[in-house]
Amino acid sequence: MNKKQDWNLKNLVLEKIKEQGGWVNAHSHLDRAYSINPQSLELGNEHLHKKWTLVDGLKKSSTIKQIYDRMAFALERQLEQGVTVLASFIDVDEVVKDKAMKAAQKLKENYQKDLKLVFINQALKGVLNPQARFWFEEALGFVDIIGGLPGKDAGQEAEHLDVLFALAKKHKKMVHVHVDQLNSPKEKETELLIKKTQEYALGGRVVAVHAVSLAAQPVKYRQKIYQEMQKNQLMVIVCPTAWIDSRRSEELAPIHNAIAPVEELLEAKIPVGLGTDNIADIYKPFSDGEMWTELRFLLETCHFYDIKELVNIATINGRKALGLIT
Ligand SMILES: [Zn+2]
Repeated sequence: MNKKQDWNLKNLVLEKIKEQGGWVNAHSHLDRAYSINPQSLELGNEHLHKKWTLVDGLKKSSTIKQIYDRMAFALERQLEQGVTVLASFIDVDEVVKDKAMKAAQKLKENYQKDLKLVFINQALKGVLNPQARFWFEEALGFVDIIGGLPGKDAGQEAEHLDVLFALAKKHKKMVHVHVDQLNSPKEKETELLIKKTQEYALGGRVVAVHAVSLAAQPVKYRQKIYQEMQKNQLMVIVCPTAWIDSRRSEELAPIHNAIAPVEELLEAKIPVGLGTDNIADIYKPFSDGEMWTELRFLLETCHFYDIKELVNIATINGRKALGLIT
């Protein structure tokens, strides 16, 4: 590199990411990407839990071709950035039925020469009511990894994880679970996830996605969680811009930015991968799916400047979390 460009740390990081096999986007929801428009923008202000059902209209009216087109458009924007591995949750439930699965199958056929695609089912209707459970099980033959959203079965989070983990064992698949998304000390889903991982002896197969609320806990609690995570070989995926919009609240917690405590997790030898999460939909209307933006927010919010580790977060840690390498 030209000496005059020594100040350009972004280029340095980007070069190293390329050398290390390219970006790994370890968490996205391509089936709803680019579905935002000026009319639906106002829905962006609704609470997360309401958005879980607000997308029903879109899911019901979309054809397989429309879902495919959204996914393909998003995928091509990812390829342009040098993404070589892309993991996407896809909704499989009584509203969208098997449409997103069929679109994802076609995506796999058409793009498998360009990048590694990993699909994970989104349990947006939970897994406990019989209809939701039916579609959850329908997805298992197709997806590479089992996905979970215990918050959707609020009050029965443990039962939700029981369903996930029993089937993960039976189908010998990894599990990615959305946990601790609301940046509140009241949430302790990561703790429950660890407990269940231990109970089902699924060490090395379970990934906590987001784990933001962990940062709202006192240091003693966090340290204990890290020890337990390490013992049970849990991994973490963060999507920084997805949760930096965490709402102002009067709850009291240790001062922190709204992101999992990445630098502490790495210090405790817990691999952390990176994802974009939602792209240009009612969850994240202005997200453009740029991996550099995600990495930049991570390094700024955690004040974390270790270039080697940042490159690992953007590459091999994602591969680990997706079970592509050990
Ligand atoms: Zn997600």
